[in-house]
Amino acid sequence: MSTVSSSKKNNSFVLQKQDEISFEDRPVPVAGPGQVIVNIKATGICGSDVHYWTHGRIGHFVCKGPMVLGHESAGIVASLGEGVTDLEVGDRVALEPGVPCGRCEMCKIGKYNLCPDMAFAATPPYDGTLCDFYRHSADFCYKLPKNVSLEEGALIEPLSVGIHAARRGEVRLGDRVFVFGAGPVGLLTAAAAKAAGAAHVTMADISESRLKFAKSYIADETIHMTSKPPKDVDTNEFAKAEAEKIFASGISPANVVFDCTGVEVCVQMSIYLVKNNGKIVLVGMGASVQSISVADVSAREVDVRGVMRYCNTYPTAIEMLASGKIDLKSLITHRYKFKESLEAFQHVKEGREGTIKIVITNDD
Ligand SMILES: [Zn+2]
Ligand SMILES: [Zn+2]
Repeated sequence: MSTVSSSKKNNSFVLQKQDEISFEDRPVPVAGPGQVIVNIKATGICGSDVHYWTHGRIGHFVCKGPMVLGHESAGIVASLGEGVTDLEVGDRVALEPGVPCGRCEMCKIGKYNLCPDMAFAATPPYDGTLCDFYRHSADFCYKLPKNVSLEEGALIEPLSVGIHAARRGEVRLGDRVFVFGAGPVGLLTAAAAKAAGAAHVTMADISESRLKFAKSYIADETIHMTSKPPKDVDTNEFAKAEAEKIFASGISPANVVFDCTGVEVCVQMSIYLVKNNGKIVLVGMGASVQSISVADVSAREVDVRGVMRYCNTYPTAIEMLASGKIDLKSLITHRYKFKESLEAFQHVKEGREGTIKIVITNDD
């Protein structure tokens, strides 16, 4: 057992309430049995962190008290709790931010992302990782190989979403894949699908600059979506016509369609873009009730699958990064220092052109 020197500070980036974030000097935590204290070095900013700031909630997760933001982090082990044997002080680790109960039915069958008692960083009421020292279960800290940087380690979190989505879609060798949304999650879902054997990936978005990046990063083909469904019309009919246009442009139906937008018309189009017997994976979060053609789902045996975060993805992601099979580095378009966290959040909130992923680094 070891502890972090009591003279150390634990500067933390705290959401006080909706629209109000400030730095706070919090006590350095002490590791309990099976836990470690990690000196956080790199944190990716996710749309969800910014959403808690601007809305104070995501769906039924409501932020009721002060909460440290951030959940995509990596750092260096600073102290060990009792019984921790497979980590040492000084190890570089990626943090898987959700710790499940380990005892329920979902945990026991290995689908721990569905554990009802999950404690997930920066999901109320649990504090996130944008701080100097974060206490975490040693089991959810993954040692990084020498050739994987701490920044890449931080981005294993969003990569995990892509890996889990590709697994849910059961992507196979030679598959044609269609992805709605060319933000970080869409790009990483496409990258995971390609790594899993997809032969051809088409990506669609409303932003031309994102599509330009997608083409340089992973997409074989991109589609710039410009038309909006007219009001007072069945949007399923509009979606069907849009899909027909895509086929007319020379793109064939997909084995798997990933919706990384949550936008209803994209989900509706997914039904028409997928092959008979194909799969649709709902990765994005949008309106909680949406209308889709159940007749197509049924008569064409289309599988519509949900995605809740991820499970068992960190070891896979580390192997993929160490072997260079997936590239995370080129996704980082901007970097901010920890003390500039507010500027970084502002940047994401404004949705500035040319932004893919922002990483906050903490070097001192
Ligand atoms: Zn995230
Ligand atoms: Zn559980």
